[in-house]
Amino acid sequence: MAKDYYAILGVSKNADEKAIKAAYRKLARKYHPDVNPGDASAEAKFKDVSEAHEILGNPEKRKLYDRWGSNWEAAQNFSGAQGGGGNVEFDFGDGLGSLFEQFFGGRGQPGGDFEDVSVRPRGVQPTDVEKAVDVTLEEIDTGVKRVLTYQVMDACKSCDGTGYVRTKTPHACPVCGGAGRTKGVFGMGQPCSACGGTGESTLEKCPTCRGAATTPTTRKVEVSIPAGIAAGKKLRVPGRGSTGSNGRAGDLYVVIHELNHPSFTRKADDLETEVGVPFTTAALGGEIRVPTLRGPVTMKIPAGSQSGQTFRLSSQGIAKMGGSGRGNLLAKIKVTVPKHLTETERRLIEELRSLEEVKA
Ligand SMILES: [Zn+2]
Ligand SMILES: [Zn+2]
Repeated sequence: MAKDYYAILGVSKNADEKAIKAAYRKLARKYHPDVNPGDASAEAKFKDVSEAHEILGNPEKRKLYDRWGSNWEAAQNFSGAQGGGGNVEFDFGDGLGSLFEQFFGGRGQPGGDFEDVSVRPRGVQPTDVEKAVDVTLEEIDTGVKRVLTYQVMDACKSCDGTGYVRTKTPHACPVCGGAGRTKGVFGMGQPCSACGGTGESTLEKCPTCRGAATTPTTRKVEVSIPAGIAAGKKLRVPGRGSTGSNGRAGDLYVVIHELNHPSFTRKADDLETEVGVPFTTAALGGEIRVPTLRGPVTMKIPAGSQSGQTFRLSSQGIAKMGGSGRGNLLAKIKVTVPKHLTETERRLIEELRSLEEVKA
């Protein structure tokens, strides 16, 4: 590590702390990875600059560096001067690079004699919200309007969804607590990206959202569920999701949850049902009552109808999407036998049986 930290910061060997800090801030702003996305040479320079500041900005380390040059670290370890080592490890590879992009946007604004190199967190994105609604088959058949009340997390208006607001005077950076370094994803100290490693910032946790960047908001939306909609289908209501920092909102997706029906099973636009038929009607043929979504109807069955046989009632199913008629109702008959017989019934059925025995 034979680096000339003074040359890197462009300051003289007798530069005072203030001059070093000023030079560092200027260069950190210039080479910050956020300002130079994808620029490897700027990234390398940012590392050098941060490293130089790490050493020259610390009177102890600077003294060692002045005395021992590039061997200052060994000297430090040898002399047992304040721990922590000097292993300055930077990595703006894949992982951290994208973290920067995700969490931190533009650069700080220059203000007065304090040049704030801290970056403003980028803020929250608009997000889509999904909400399930229970709908009965009857409602699907006719179409229905529903008022949905639900909570979203909108970008906090006080801080534009960043979680931070600016103060007039600089103070300890709220992200790193003034240390200038944070525990990074690699387990080693990283220069704090919020303050550019300076430890100072005009950023302060937003008092409204307490730094959360979002505030809960209740939305109320009336949704028209069209007749014939399929179970599991999602209806999109534009702009009714959570609002992001940019003022735009995500969408609401209403998920159709079809409730089970006691009498019907839906198969696309058709309905299936089971109807009990007395064995006499099944044998002789006749009229039976069949339930539909719009009330019971009468259906004729022929003589000799068998248990399990299915009859189709056309256009008694579910309304088709787009208003082009209805599906069919498929009625499966189940022949029933009386559990208790009167004297007369018993006599007649016994007579019937004796006739069957003759036939066989
Ligand atoms: Zn910081
Ligand atoms: Zn806020």
